[in-house]
Amino acid sequence: MKYTEGPEIRDTKAPSGPIEDRWEKRKFSAKLVNPANKRKLNVIVVGTGLAGGSAAATLGELGYNVKSFCYQDSPRRAHSIAAQGGINAAKNYRGDGDSIYRLFYDTVKGGDFRARESNVYRLAQVSVNIIDQAVAQGVPFAREYGGLLDTRSFGGAQVSRTFYARGQTGQQLLLGAYQALERQVAAGTVEMHTRHEMLDLIVSDGRARGIIVRDMVTGEIERHLADAVVLATGGYGNVFFLSTNAKGCNTTAIWRAHERGAYFANPCYTQIHPTCIPVSGEYQSKLTLMSESLRNDGRVWVPLRKNDDRAPGDIPEDERDYYLERIYPSFGNLVPRDIASRAAKNVCDEGRGVGPGGLGVYLDFRDAINRLGRDAVEKKYGNLFEMYERITGENPYDVPMRIYPAVHYTMGGLWVDYDLQSTIPGLFVIGEANFSDHGANRLGASALMQGLADGYFVLPTTIGDYLANGPYGDVDEEAVAEAEIKVRTKIDRLLAVNGTRTPDSFHRELGKLMWDYCGMERTEESLRKALERIPELREEFWQNVKVSGTAEELNQVLEKAGRVADFFDLAELMCLDALVRTESCGGHFRAESQDADGEALRDDENFAHVSAWEYSPDGPILHKEPLEYEYVKMTQRSYK
Ligand SMILES: Cc1cc2nc3c(=O)[nH]c(=O)nc-3n(C[C@H](O)[C@H](O)[C@H](O)COP(=O)(O)OP(=O)(O)OC[C@H]3O[C@@H](n4cnc5c(N)ncnc54)[C@H](O)[C@@H]3O)c2cc1C
Repeated sequence: MKYTEGPEIRDTKAPSGPIEDRWEKRKFSAKLVNPANKRKLNVIVVGTGLAGGSAAATLGELGYNVKSFCYQDSPRRAHSIAAQGGINAAKNYRGDGDSIYRLFYDTVKGGDFRARESNVYRLAQVSVNIIDQAVAQGVPFAREYGGLLDTRSFGGAQVSRTFYARGQTGQQLLLGAYQALERQVAAGTVEMHTRHEMLDLIVSDGRARGIIVRDMVTGEIERHLADAVVLATGGYGNVFFLSTNAKGCNTTAIWRAHERGAYFANPCYTQIHPTCIPVSGEYQSKLTLMSESLRNDGRVWVPLRKNDDRAPGDIPEDERDYYLERIYPSFGNLVPRDIASRAAKNVCDEGRGVGPGGLGVYLDFRDAINRLGRDAVEKKYGNLFEMYERITGENPYDVPMRIYPAVHYTMGGLWVDYDLQSTIPGLFVIGEANFSDHGANRLGASALMQGLADGYFVLPTTIGDYLANGPYGDVDEEAVAEAEIKVRTKIDRLLAVNGTRTPDSFHRELGKLMWDYCGMERTEESLRKALERIPELREEFWQNVKVSGTAEELNQVLEKAGRVADFFDLAELMCLDALVRTESCGGHFRAESQDADGEALRDDENFAHVSAWEYSPDGPILHKEPLEYEYVKMTQRSYK
């Protein structure tokens, strides 16, 4: 795949000066919209997860006319509901040394120095407000005996700053955001459109002015216009087919906005989560996460000996290798995800993995049960243990869990500036759909924090600065008609192929290819192979896909086919991005770039930048945004 390099890109919205004052400064300099004028301004929010749900509710409360869209039958079913472990905030309720600065520092370091300092600092500042907002909504966070909110530890931090509601934090936070959203629906400021899939972005006079959606029940193609569009459409980990994401998660909304001019940043940064239930067979279509919170009390180990097939209970203590505790004594089992995942892969590659195919390591609660008692362990993790037992048939109170890394989160996404605005004026992108804040590796419990920071606090302020110059007048009819025709043409084309293979079978093959060649470890050779094979497979898809049914009805095969078509194009860009970035950083591990201990070796001289890709029919154009560190010194990350 050919690419060219374009001019540098800069984030011109982040204020300068002391980092702790920047957000205040931006809030003050952002133009305000008079309350009477807000009623005249229309905003579309696509997505009702934690990012979109909180944004739509807040914008509605502010007085804008909001239209909210999701493809599920209820906003409450957004993938955010699956989040288990918790949400970070620098409250320092425990007095264990936490602070806004420490959360900022941990996040910049955790992201392997590939995130913007200004954004991350703001995230840490806003984190404390999120908890207050959620508590006021009635979110039932766990409490300790004195009544204060309880916290637990997550990877990449030595303080305990993760607020949680058993293993259902995402669900409880989403119920809070959903209630706020429904309140605005009842108040008439938010109009809800469930079971509608956005299939294109309308760009008129260089501004994002609306979307084309398909009513997934009737098949009708509709146009919705506005003064600004917000995409909160989640991550694209399902490009790998097998992932911990909900089956519906896809890239269509952001990919089609990319085709309209929004730059795509760092597409190759993928998070592989270390604690998932291992793949058990070819038939599988979904992987299950075992929350990182389990590493608070569970100890990760493998047998010292290769190919040791004894039952775990028969392996004596001195024949076990608690390899995370051994290699990383400071952080132990709570090293960040990229480090824990690679360590698990390494011991399995050495032949010390456990379970079928040797692709697993133990996560053992024996010591925690002995220390705290079974009841205490059950209170903290009961629903996760039950889930594990239902899936594997093994009882983790008696035998250690078996876990293996799996695709979980995508740090890449549409490029946005400090205001969360993309390269298309009027198009804002929030939550997992944008690229900001996590660099090359996201720390656990930071996605919920970022989604809610964006939706409740950041976007509602920054979008005002854009809307203050609105309303933006009539939308060019030609632009709307062109987007509508493009959507219809793609649907007709998919239906016309009438081949023999299901979209799912293509997706499975693409996902395997991505996992093998652009997964936990990437090499120049593997990426070149992928870049050769993806276009061939895409060609076969367009010659041989079978989409049954019609466009004028509920048609899940058609929905799937459209999403898989976009996954092909995205996969190609991911591999190109991974090929061009010849360094290793965070979740992007290039085998050619590692230090003597096998750790990721960054190349700050050549790669301390965001790679922002512009779409062009003649091949992508790479724009680099230099990353500058004034506060945190760039060093080789160490968790030893
Ligand atoms: C199993 C699991 C556990 C996790 N646990 C944690 C945790 O404990 N802590 C943490 O911080 N993070 C966790 N994460 C990550 C976190 O859950 C997600 O990153 C976050 O919830 C994403 O929120 P979002 O609002 O950006 O997107 P989502 O919640 O994915 O919502 C996307 C929304 O966009 C809509 N949408 C998408 N495309 C379209 C389209 N074309 N048209 C119309 N609507 C569309 C969907 O309908 C949905 O409403 C976990 C992730 C997984 C997979």
